[in-house]
Amino acid sequence: MTFVYKADPARGAEWAKHFALAMPETPFHVWPDVGDPSDVRFLAAWQPPADLMGLFPNLEVLFSIGAGIDQFDLGAIPAHIPVVRMIEPGISSAMSEYVTMAALALHRDLPSYLDQQKRKVWQEIRVVPASQRRVGILGLGELAQASLEKLMPFGFPLSGWSRSRRVLTGVHCYGGRDELEAFLAATDILICLLPLTSDTTNFLNADVFSKLPSGASLIHVGRGPQLGHEALLEALDSGHLSGAFVDVTAPEPLPEGHRFWSHPKIVITPHVASMTQPETAVKVVVENLRRRSSGEPMTGVVDRDRGY
Ligand code: NDP
Repeated sequence: MTFVYKADPARGAEWAKHFALAMPETPFHVWPDVGDPSDVRFLAAWQPPADLMGLFPNLEVLFSIGAGIDQFDLGAIPAHIPVVRMIEPGISSAMSEYVTMAALALHRDLPSYLDQQKRKVWQEIRVVPASQRRVGILGLGELAQASLEKLMPFGFPLSGWSRSRRVLTGVHCYGGRDELEAFLAATDILICLLPLTSDTTNFLNADVFSKLPSGASLIHVGRGPQLGHEALLEALDSGHLSGAFVDVTAPEPLPEGHRFWSHPKIVITPHVASMTQPETAVKVVVENLRRRSSGEPMTGVVDRDRGY
């Protein structure tokens, strides 16, 4: 009954320490040390190994180290093996900090002031009250809800859009494709927290940007392939959009010489909006193993039909 961790080895050592305290009876290995592969029942991975089932024929659960599972080829994972994404408080907390930081920076025109500083320009931009800056999130899942909670005290009118309609106190919720246009038209700072699926690939495109009000801005913290780079550049260069925080790109790293690097209206961060925290992640994984062994449903099991 071995547990294998396959991701950043330094964080793997931390996982091993916390796991040993919580489940001392279960051997824990950090890739590439897997012990006897036929003993491996549980794998927590960012990228699973090639020929997963050939290597671990007795695998019972595949845990993603991250909140998303788009790095997995679900078709190659037998249907009887649950794929479990990471829902843990460390990821939610860091994501809500990043989203709040970026929303405040865009609200208070930080990209413009950083550009002015480079050019030694002293020029004020009129302050807009938070009550007049509408913040809207694409996706209303775990990370969006944590972010909305943190944004709430600033007084921004808050909204969100998801596939099925959600009901959230203090948030205007839109649901389904029919309501996307109305959501976009009422959003000044657009935040993307959608999972990457075939439906959301290239979601942030020229059509979506054209439906935002003039002067709107973007915070992209979903996944790289959701963003059309040329569409964003055109929307910024035409003046229709005023700024963007881009944390995820396709490809990653962003290639040297890419226009995003030096664009005065873009702030780039290297896919760091959030990170899984070993201590809290191990707690969640151990609790899921306990649930599984007592016949209760695990949290974060991916719905293979939806793809998230
Ligand atoms: P959840 O699964 O909890 O929430 C996903 C939300 O997106 C749900 O509200 C869902 O709708 C909505 N959604 C999915 N597909 C569609 C669609 N086609 N149209 C409309 N709405 C859709 O995910 P999390 O909040 O935990 O994570 C979101 C994503 O954030 C991750 O998948 C990952 O890609 C990204 N992420 C980025 C990180 C970074 O560092 N940049 C770190 C961690 C995560 P419904 O409510 O109807 O199901």
